Amino acid sequence: MSAILIKNVEVISEENNEIFNIGIKNQVFSYIGKETPTGFDNAYVIDGKNFIAVPGMVNTHTHAAMTLLRSYADDMILMDWLQNKIWPAEANLTGDDVYWGTKLAIIEMIKSGTTTFADMYFFMDRVAEAVQETGIRASLSRGMIGLVPDANEKITESIELYNNWHGQADGRIKVMFGPHAPYTCPVNYLKRIIDEAGKLGSEIHMHLSETAYEVSECEREHGMTPIALMNSIGLFDLGTLAAHCVHVTPADIEIMSSKNVRVAHNPQSNLKLASGIAPVPEMLAAGIIVGLGTDGTSSNNNLDMLEEARLTAMLHKNNKSDPLVIPAKQALNLATKQGALALGFSDVGEIKVGQKADLVLYDTRKPYWYPRHDRTSLFVYAANSSDADTVIVDGKILMENGNLLTIDEEKVYAEANKCGLRLTK
Ligand SMILES: [Zn+2]
Repeated sequence: MSAILIKNVEVISEENNEIFNIGIKNQVFSYIGKETPTGFDNAYVIDGKNFIAVPGMVNTHTHAAMTLLRSYADDMILMDWLQNKIWPAEANLTGDDVYWGTKLAIIEMIKSGTTTFADMYFFMDRVAEAVQETGIRASLSRGMIGLVPDANEKITESIELYNNWHGQADGRIKVMFGPHAPYTCPVNYLKRIIDEAGKLGSEIHMHLSETAYEVSECEREHGMTPIALMNSIGLFDLGTLAAHCVHVTPADIEIMSSKNVRVAHNPQSNLKLASGIAPVPEMLAAGIIVGLGTDGTSSNNNLDMLEEARLTAMLHKNNKSDPLVIPAKQALNLATKQGALALGFSDVGEIKVGQKADLVLYDTRKPYWYPRHDRTSLFVYAANSSDADTVIVDGKILMENGNLLTIDEEKVYAEANKCGLRLTK
């Protein structure tokens, strides 16, 4: 796409909180300032008046095609929910189901201001297709479970996924290996995964220490917490994105900090499945990178990252001791820049010259945008993600004035509805 010039837009970013012109060229922000930049004579111009520009949100943990199971099984605790509802339905999934379910999720993400997501699921080549076609950015992992007859095939699929898709779609796609969790992957299976991932240089995306039950079972079986066990077999040496980390001890946090384990914090999912509240302020104080995630829509019901940021800012206010409070600005940083770092995208997550141009314009012609004492605070505590009006990823417009430019919305709704109803029959 040619260059884009966004004129007179209010910007929320780490450094800037004013009205600027934003120039986008060659997939990156090339100008942010008060002047009209040179070299943009033929640029596509967007009038930024009445809009606020926010870095695209980064959803660090989801199972996108679980949109198909949305509202199928609610109000249950994790193990009962997985074993009796989710896993039996997922056994019927086809590649087409995953393709349409993922596209449904991508529509929801774009429309609510998310520009990057980390996905762990099955038929990931079809997820990669959906990512490539729609223009969104993603880190993809084939979920692997060791307690099934085709456990080895899942490792082979992960290797193929890495070889076929890592770095593809102009660098918008990354691939990680995705062992599901300590309670579904025996140690010998994990060692094979570590071996294969190590040969390729792939990182790991895994559920860790999600529930108290998982931790106590792991301690009973191995005499160690899940974090200590993963450390003992060398998993963290590959680079790890750990989802949840709700039940981690101070010793676990020390290990995570020393091994640069990055965390995907999923507050809504953890609350809905009654798993608990992760000690995010303690992890941040230890220097751990923490991003935010929604988890799958079967546990969370939506993919709204603004809700996750708001909840993160609110959940960690109970303790009045200063370092343990997460202010709005920090919550937004976790939802954007820190999330991008958690996924290994170092040039994503900020509206800053040289960064990849992933940006969302929110319509501020709403009552809750007045008065403008603090734009970041208004965005995190008062705004609505459905106010996302225009979305740019990698310098390309994916949604303009609420219209999706790379997806046939009606077709996706019809196909996803068909797939979802068939799966749960
Ligand atoms: Zn998950």
